[in-house]
Amino acid sequence: MHTTKRKQSNSLPKMSTEIANGGIFEQSIRCGKPNCRCANGDMHRGYYYFIFRTVQGRLRKRYVPKSMVTMLQNLVAESRTERRREREIRQMSSRLLTQFHSQLKEILGDNDAASED
Ligand SMILES: [Zn+2]
Repeated sequence: MHTTKRKQSNSLPKMSTEIANGGIFEQSIRCGKPNCRCANGDMHRGYYYFIFRTVQGRLRKRYVPKSMVTMLQNLVAESRTERRREREIRQMSSRLLTQFHSQLKEILGDNDAASED
């Protein structure tokens, strides 16, 4: 298997499994021209950035073109669904384990009680 060094500095996640959480934010900017409308507070819109937490727990911020906003929003939604499913599976298996332990205890307890009787 070939392993290529990934440029972490400006890479965007491409799969929902790469992120733990995230959100798209719009930023308004001033271009700096003194006679532009933005100088009076009517800022330029349409600048987006994506803040996300990697599965390793690192917080990242990347500017993204508008054309990628929908894709990233889908990625976040997908990742949320996956996290929820993982949580449900974890909860279910821990519930089953608890059930199993209490049943085991009951069986062992019964045996103890029976022998003492
Ligand atoms: Zn401006």
